[in-house]
Amino acid sequence: MSSQSDSPSDQRDAMQQRHEEAANEVLPEHTDPYIGGDFTAVAGEETFETIDPTTGEVLASVGRGREADIDRAVEAAWSAFEGTWSEYGAGRRQRVLTAIAETIDEHADELARLETLDNGKPVSEATIDVRGTAEQFRYFAGLVRGDSGETMAEGSRYGQVIEEPYGVVGQIVPWNFPLLITSWKLAPALAAGNCSVLKPAEQTPLSVLRLAELVDDVVPNGVINIVPGYGEEAGAALTGHPDVRKVAFTGSTAVGKQVMKSAAEHVTDVTLELGGKSPVVVFPDVDTRKAVALVSSAIFYNTGECCEAGSRLFVHEDVADDVLDGLVAAIDDMTIGDPLDEETDLGPKVSGEQVERTMEYLEQAQDEGGQFLAGGDRPDDEALAGGCFVEPTLIEGLDHDSGAVQEEIFGPVLDVFRWEDYDEMIELANDVEYGLAGGVISEDITQANRAARDIEAGYIWINSYHDLVPGLPFGGYKQSGIGRELSADTLDHYRQTKTINLSLR
Ligand code: NAD
Repeated sequence: MSSQSDSPSDQRDAMQQRHEEAANEVLPEHTDPYIGGDFTAVAGEETFETIDPTTGEVLASVGRGREADIDRAVEAAWSAFEGTWSEYGAGRRQRVLTAIAETIDEHADELARLETLDNGKPVSEATIDVRGTAEQFRYFAGLVRGDSGETMAEGSRYGQVIEEPYGVVGQIVPWNFPLLITSWKLAPALAAGNCSVLKPAEQTPLSVLRLAELVDDVVPNGVINIVPGYGEEAGAALTGHPDVRKVAFTGSTAVGKQVMKSAAEHVTDVTLELGGKSPVVVFPDVDTRKAVALVSSAIFYNTGECCEAGSRLFVHEDVADDVLDGLVAAIDDMTIGDPLDEETDLGPKVSGEQVERTMEYLEQAQDEGGQFLAGGDRPDDEALAGGCFVEPTLIEGLDHDSGAVQEEIFGPVLDVFRWEDYDEMIELANDVEYGLAGGVISEDITQANRAARDIEAGYIWINSYHDLVPGLPFGGYKQSGIGRELSADTLDHYRQTKTINLSLR
């Protein structure tokens, strides 16, 4: 371990060495697509590199899946569906889902460290992700048996309504919660009786490939297929595939629109979890210390790379100075650094490309007269110079129409607005294309509920944030998506209703 008295280059070397050692311990053995229960080379024999965003070093070369690999995976999935999986009753599916959850728990530490290496998130947060991943499989295992369809006796007819799986579904996952969002997709798909072809994000394929290695013994061959690759190649081949009966996508709104178009070709059902630009509203009656902690976590958790991040703060004028001073102090206290260190609060962003994107927004905000109350640059710390770090940033004074306010930065950047008139504040809070989430901080429950109703978004936290519980549906209004995940309704997105009308005459 390096200490504060070491020179920046010593600290950097020590961090690099720690990452190399961790990589030796936790990298998956296989980095080719997992198809039909085997890891096999991609048809084109090409690879792409996945980078550790803390050190800038290459972690692994990964098979670059394209259309031919997607075709093979879809075929393997249908073969598994028709051969075995569709014969599995609810009890057997429940046992498989439970076994996946237990396997994840047994390997939680290794999976968390792998996620930290590939994504850059602090290991304390990766550990929460892994726990949540196992919890998803357990939650849907619990739902499997509750489903027995409906019947109706009506005059001379007898009706049965049954829910059938689609067969093979295509699932696309982003880089911000690689393992967790994989579980949001796979658990309900398998619970509903489908086989899956899943494409992880090109920036972060490793934890999902490791998961495939780990569950190989407990999931029948071909039920889960993982094809790493780029969005425009493997991703587009999957969303437009004629034999994929349902597409589930999480990612940006721009790509979500392309996914819808591509799925339209074969009238394939689609659910989308897209971007957000969520408001957090602070009322004047708050305990400002609590409010600061909540606002800070709403934006800075996972380095701001959360679709639900509370990235626009609406703070009442009466408490604005206290809350903003508190936020500046909280930012000063943050430990920015090696995400493998348990004490780290803020790790690097996932990639150089994402750093550039954030920096472009910060420059734009500067040009448009934004006042930077904190941050606004890359950290001035040579020890971190090789990684994708960006300072936690507070900006006040921007026009609400500014690009940095309207668009998703997906980084540790909070836009601040003061308010006095409730109606004007709500109008601004809703004046974005997104509607994924929002936060309300107030001790007055009636007032807080009113604001929760008035914010146009699919998920509102009152006096908490990021707390996603299996059973409470998560998904967006407006351009933040279609459909809900994490809840019993999600099963309905993975099956189709069949009515059998039997004449008794
Ligand atoms: P992205 O949309 O670029 O990529 C997401 C996934 O889609 C990746 O696996 C990528 O390879 C794939 N993809 C890209 N182009 C594709 C195409 N043409 N066809 C099919 N697949 C394609 O987004 P990102 O940069 O990976 O993730 C960040 C974005 O995702 C943010 O905007 C964020 O808000 C959003 N997001 C939303 C949620 C949610 O639950 N609503 C969760 C996480 C991330």
